[in-house]
Amino acid sequence: MNSPREIETLIDMMARLPGLGPRSARRAVLHLIRKRAVLLAPLAEALRRVAETVRECPRCGNVTTADLCEICADDRRANGEICVVEDVADLWAMERGGAFKGRYHVLGGTLSALDAVGPADLRIPDLVARVRDEGISEVILALNATVDGQTTAHYIAEELTGTGVAITSLAQGVPIGGQLDYLDDGTISAALRARKGF
Ligand SMILES: [Zn+2]
Repeated sequence: MNSPREIETLIDMMARLPGLGPRSARRAVLHLIRKRAVLLAPLAEALRRVAETVRECPRCGNVTTADLCEICADDRRANGEICVVEDVADLWAMERGGAFKGRYHVLGGTLSALDAVGPADLRIPDLVARVRDEGISEVILALNATVDGQTTAHYIAEELTGTGVAITSLAQGVPIGGQLDYLDDGTISAALRARKGF
């Protein structure tokens, strides 16, 4: 292109971010350059800090900059419940809801024979150990409603058999504010199967 190599490198890196293609990366970089003092320098500093300190929580797999993540470090979250999610993004989504008061276990994916992802890659043995060691009474499987997600949920449920822990999963069905007319057939039949007394 016609800009300096350093700037082209930055554009190339930005273009690898989810949701940004080459065109929007170029626009974003130009914007950063124009807002050098208020945006570019603070962003560079924030990136540097996170790059130096970010790591996986050794207990649950959440991202953290400390020894344990904030949720694992918070004794009030030790209510005997562990919510199993596929990804940190799912943990963040659950936290946005604010309804769950327990702790998490982030798998980092789903079982997949195709991609050779086995139970140990997903810290499933760690989960079984946590259930035993942390006095867990309920494991909530909040995995995605995909084939791999549900296969993984069944595998975990089987691994936890005999531990005495209650195993539940999130209800699937009509979203708040949802209109039946706009839902796909799978969602409607899942909602019908999960119906409850009115
Ligand atoms: Zn943690």
